[in-house]
Amino acid sequence: MDITKEIHKFGHEQVVFCQDNATGLQAIIAIHSTVLGPALGGCRFWNYNSEAEAVADVLRLSRGMTYKAAVANLPLGGGKSVIIGDPQRLKTKELFSVFGRFVNSMGGRYITAEDVNVRVDDMNVVAKETPYVTGSTSVSGGSGDPSPVTALGVFSGIKAAVKYRLHRDSLAGLRVAVQGCGAVGSHLCQLLAENGVHLVVADINAHATAHLREKYHAEIVSINDIHRQQVDVYSPCALGGILNARTIAELRTSIIAGAANNQLLDEEKDSERLRGLGILYAPDYVINAGGLINVCHELRGYHAENSLDDARKIYHTLMEIFIKAENRGTSTLAASNAMAESKIQLTMERGGQRLFHTFNNQAWIKLRR
Ligand code: NAD
Repeated sequence: MDITKEIHKFGHEQVVFCQDNATGLQAIIAIHSTVLGPALGGCRFWNYNSEAEAVADVLRLSRGMTYKAAVANLPLGGGKSVIIGDPQRLKTKELFSVFGRFVNSMGGRYITAEDVNVRVDDMNVVAKETPYVTGSTSVSGGSGDPSPVTALGVFSGIKAAVKYRLHRDSLAGLRVAVQGCGAVGSHLCQLLAENGVHLVVADINAHATAHLREKYHAEIVSINDIHRQQVDVYSPCALGGILNARTIAELRTSIIAGAANNQLLDEEKDSERLRGLGILYAPDYVINAGGLINVCHELRGYHAENSLDDARKIYHTLMEIFIKAENRGTSTLAASNAMAESKIQLTMERGGQRLFHTFNNQAWIKLRR
């Protein structure tokens, strides 16, 4: 892999390689765009097979954050970081302190948060080194776990998809298959059950599903069968890449609307496959933006109700995307990508990274200290 070529391919602004021998930290911070604001995105701790694999991941993820913030109408750009190595072996407070200092050295162009294998406790350590962090606990000035807000956004997105495709205002009596009943999936199941939905669930963790059967009479199926269930909505809330040529052919639903990132294995082909089958796909980065909306509120001064209100607006954003896709004869993903790109283009034409500087002038990030 030619790393420089990859960095130029999608127009990333800056990619920083960080290393600290004392703690074993090897990290990459990627800023895709600061046109709409400072680049915000979580830090993923993953045992990559190679540095090239880590570079590919951080470039793809940071670009996704630009699109997510743009469509959610947030004054944020897109960035992401990865820490390379086995978290079980490498994770220490010292390592996150050093990572925090690297984040601080970016001067606010990049703001970090949790992602896979990085928890609130880790962000509390980072928060001691830099104000450019979100998702730490309220003690450290943060808003804590964003999962309930993400779940509310997904729930609102499901309601929009049901209204658009099934012409129904109520979810009562519908069957929804939830794949992955962790932080987001379990909160989503609660909201769905409270609205009269019959739940079909699957998780590799038997405790997660047993709890849902006990509490909401959820039907438990195997992780290999969850996507094949005859349901009104299939909601992937676990892994990426679960929608591909094989699984799409086996679907028995008319709506896909879930929290998982990067649900489509091949974005272009799989979004077209779904369109061809008449399955309404709620683009993952649009429907799961609740977490990002929440941390954006954290940066401005946190009021939970305002954050929840904005997460509910995902309903209207998705409606707009569904309508645009139908009118233009494109996939819903193509419609949301176009929406993000035109917003970024317009901002650039009006003077480029203006909002980023405005943010710094207002010093709102520093308020968190
Ligand atoms: P989590 O780790 O708390 O939950 C994931 C669940 O999926 C776990 O219960 C796990 O056992 C289960 N799982 C793993 N492999 C599975 C498989 N093959 N089949 C079925 N279940 C499986 O994670 P989370 O925070 O709930 O996030 C879920 C998804 O949503 C992820 O893709 C994440 O990137 C995305 N997301 C989360 C947030 C957030 O606020 N937490 C925000 C945006 C996007």
